[in-house]
Amino acid sequence: MYTHDDTIVAPATASGGALSVIRLSGERAVEIADRLFRGRKPLAESRPATVRYGLICDGERIVDDVVATLFRAPNSYTGEDSVEFSCHGSQYITSEIIRLAVEAGARLATAGEFTSRAFLAGRIDLSQAEAVADMIAADSQAAHAMASTQLRGGYSSELNSLRADLLRLTSLLELELDFSEEDVTFADRAQLRQTMGEIGRHISRLKESFQLGNAIREGVAVAIIGAPNAGKSTLLNRLLGENRAMVSEIAGTTRDTIEERMNIDGVVFRFIDTAGLHETSDRLEQMGIERTKEALERAQIVVVLNDGLNAVPKVSLSENQRLIEVANKMDLRQGESIADGVISISALTGEGVEELLRAIRSAVDTRSLYAGDSIVSSARHREALHHAGEALNRAIEALDSDLPTDLLSEDIRQVLHHIGCITGDITSDEILQSIFSKFCIGK
Ligand code: GDP
Repeated sequence: MYTHDDTIVAPATASGGALSVIRLSGERAVEIADRLFRGRKPLAESRPATVRYGLICDGERIVDDVVATLFRAPNSYTGEDSVEFSCHGSQYITSEIIRLAVEAGARLATAGEFTSRAFLAGRIDLSQAEAVADMIAADSQAAHAMASTQLRGGYSSELNSLRADLLRLTSLLELELDFSEEDVTFADRAQLRQTMGEIGRHISRLKESFQLGNAIREGVAVAIIGAPNAGKSTLLNRLLGENRAMVSEIAGTTRDTIEERMNIDGVVFRFIDTAGLHETSDRLEQMGIERTKEALERAQIVVVLNDGLNAVPKVSLSENQRLIEVANKMDLRQGESIADGVISISALTGEGVEELLRAIRSAVDTRSLYAGDSIVSSARHREALHHAGEALNRAIEALDSDLPTDLLSEDIRQVLHHIGCITGDITSDEILQSIFSKFCIGK
């Protein structure tokens, strides 16, 4: 399916803007563009990387005034000859230009086909191609920083240096296998053990970064829990500055979980207001409680709200979850002493809410992200790293128990294979299809 011997066309911008960009890429891109474009001289005679003003014509009928940008292979996004027309942002004009390009021999691009061509032409590796989609979807400074590092190849170069180390190991081991009759060792075992240990630590670090990466990409989930009437909905409304959740004095009115997104200092948080964690015979409420439990499991940050009146629900958190304890209704609890580390607020008046927001934000350490460290945000990459780590552990075990060199070498090849799946050195049509089908047309 991923042939690139034809020329593709697609709109590169969403409709509704003042301008619209239409992209053509492939061997015949310039020739096809010249069939519709009338400028001072044909694009075919223009220098690469030039911009020309002209008209798009359908026979004698003028469709629009456009600006054409010409890219010559290999210096284009796809690595092929490409032309981009900027026209007026009318859906009619855009579709007319595309129709004319198709009549002149172009094919309508499939989703992500421009980026898949860039990958197939070796302009970018697969993890960079995936970062293109992440970059477009990024809705916060942190998500943008993460995608940007990946797009600019920071992550790829880290993986490539891992690959280079692994290739060095396998080539030494394979040399030994070639000379197996003579029982020689080329690879110093102690050195080998040390390098493998380093690679293992590297893989673990990348794998562990997924927790942050995934949270940044999806939004950090914050569950607000507390007894009925503790003020959960009031707090959520206060945080969001809007009356989204239903506030009432009848216990148990928040029957469902409500999720709201909020950007705090460059990171998107998903606040989950939950039904109270308490026993009830009401079926509808029971369902809400079940959902609360699920939300609690998914949450990276758990805010426990205590109004000093009702018992706080017992929660057991996993080691990756952060707990923030909050004393609410402090406007009614003047003079009451609050334990250290507990944040005092009044959801009703807003007092202390700023401090709570700061505590929530600082529960996510984004220093590594802004320092340009590679952060794994894709579940596909995390899985590949997991398999790579397992194969590496097998290799280390083989080495430690003095197993034959061919077993050791096979395990290291497996590590290489799994790392190669991330960068796309090893890939299949199905993987490519599943990645690029999530892109939009024209990307
Ligand atoms: P939930 O069941 O935990 O969601 O509780 P609600 O947000 O519905 O609040 C229950 C009641 O407590 C409402 O009448 C709120 O106005 C009131 N309440 C919430 N926070 C405060 C607060 O900080 N001070 C005071 N005085 N009342 C509050």
